[in-house]
Amino acid sequence: MIVDVHSHLDLLEDVKSAIKGVIAIGSGLDHESNLRILELTNKFENVKACLGVYPIDALKLTDEEIDEEIYFIRENKDKIVGIGEIGLDFKESDNKERQVEVLIKIIKKLRDLDKVFVVHSRRAEKECVEIFEKLKVKKVVFHCFHGNFKLIKRIEKNGWMLSIPCIVNRSEHFQKIVEAVDIKNLLVESDAPFLCAEAGKRNEPRFVGDTLKIISTIKKMKLEAVEEILFENYEKVFC
Ligand SMILES: [Zn+2]
Repeated sequence: MIVDVHSHLDLLEDVKSAIKGVIAIGSGLDHESNLRILELTNKFENVKACLGVYPIDALKLTDEEIDEEIYFIRENKDKIVGIGEIGLDFKESDNKERQVEVLIKIIKKLRDLDKVFVVHSRRAEKECVEIFEKLKVKKVVFHCFHGNFKLIKRIEKNGWMLSIPCIVNRSEHFQKIVEAVDIKNLLVESDAPFLCAEAGKRNEPRFVGDTLKIISTIKKMKLEAVEEILFENYEKVFC
């Protein structure tokens, strides 16, 4: 079974066809999107949910509103497989202090749930790695990670996961990650509707099957073996 560990299912037009043949984990960005992701888990057996607060969306919220969302995530702990999308984005906003404050609050208030955190770390890769190390978090997935190889090796050493996006077909950076990182630390993601292998096209979770083929070529492993190991990796952190 193939698992797309990170997508924005609430932003897709035809979810049913987009998730055909795969397990798709939808990630919420704010309260509205968290609600829609939960709804989709009721509608489709092969949809699973991560609930979160996107760093940029969080900047619009008061402390109380963030606490309420954290409470909402906690209330739904039995319906979710992870917490995300959370993280830092220093490209979209230079309000670093507030972003860091919110991220630390989310981790501290939810880490006892023992769920995996799915992390966005644009232009804040080092800061994210350091925060999760400092707070001794065991289960972390770095989604579409653009940090350097020193950080990538640290992620691997910490037993965390890197999820490889569909753009690996045209990204030397992600091809190098696949080559350098132990397959036991890899997962695949669509980030649908974004980051399609074919530039300009809307992405779908079912396309992650192509990423598995690329991994099998780079790793010189049989496709079935890649699928099996990646499924074990998924079970290890999400189940
Ligand atoms: Zn995303």
